[in-house]
Amino acid sequence: MNINRIDLADAASPERLVLEILKHEPTLAIPIPIKELCLRLDILEIVPLTTDGYEGGLLTSSDKFNGTILFNEASPRPRRRFTIAHELGHFLMPSHLPSSDGRFLCKLQDMMALKGGETDKRLKMEVEANRFASQILMPPPKFRVDAAASKDPELGHLCSIAKKYDVSREAAGRAYVRFRDEPVALVVTQNGKVLRDYRDPLKFPNLSAARGRMVSDHSLLRRRKHEMGVPSAIDETDAGVWTTVERGRKPAPLYEQVLLQRDGFALIMLSRDAVSGDDEEADDEAEMTSAERLKRRLHSDR
Ligand SMILES: [Zn+2]
Repeated sequence: MNINRIDLADAASPERLVLEILKHEPTLAIPIPIKELCLRLDILEIVPLTTDGYEGGLLTSSDKFNGTILFNEASPRPRRRFTIAHELGHFLMPSHLPSSDGRFLCKLQDMMALKGGETDKRLKMEVEANRFASQILMPPPKFRVDAAASKDPELGHLCSIAKKYDVSREAAGRAYVRFRDEPVALVVTQNGKVLRDYRDPLKFPNLSAARGRMVSDHSLLRRRKHEMGVPSAIDETDAGVWTTVERGRKPAPLYEQVLLQRDGFALIMLSRDAVSGDDEEADDEAEMTSAERLKRRLHSDR
């Protein structure tokens, strides 16, 4: 690796930082060697945290001459990698300044902040550090190609991508829903309750199931038994189960797939067909029963 901190001197946003890093290191391997990258960029050491209740930290001076990254040793490796990338983001973002004692300390909750911060400076820094971490670990030019590699959005595909990039399924899912052409949403549940959901708001409508609420009995999650660790078959679920459907309007078919995980967790992938712009085909589909549409979707060789 040849990259140097000087190469990033003009970069002031997470996107620009990642762009410059990829420009100077076009052959970076996947999974991204994040520790090695940190050490090239004036991080002196990466060591386990000793403060309880935090997922990561950064020790540096206000001039950010160099820094030390701290991570929670008890977390699984993909999460530790995300934490280290997040702290590198704080270190490299010129507008991110440490507290008066020269520290950033970040909680697990901070690592999940994806929006907001217009009026909250600290939250804004967390959101930006997460954008940096996501993009450096899943460089968009490569991730876009991998995300498009399966015919339909599919949880097994998402799992293999997460493995390839050595990131958590949830982190991969956040990027996946943005890069797939079709409207896709990923819902994280525990014991049947919605914890979090990720979708591209321009492509996928609001979910009607609020966070903390029980998922509907009519969802695939609850109407069938699922095998732990094995993605279910993709099935069609009435769109009204997950989204608000206007009266008298026939919603586009909604597909649901479930992956049961440990400790009562489940990942649910919701998807719709990409808008084809081909009216004839759309009319054609409208004439079909939902079972026919599903069959066509699962068996067509597009
Ligand atoms: Zn942070």
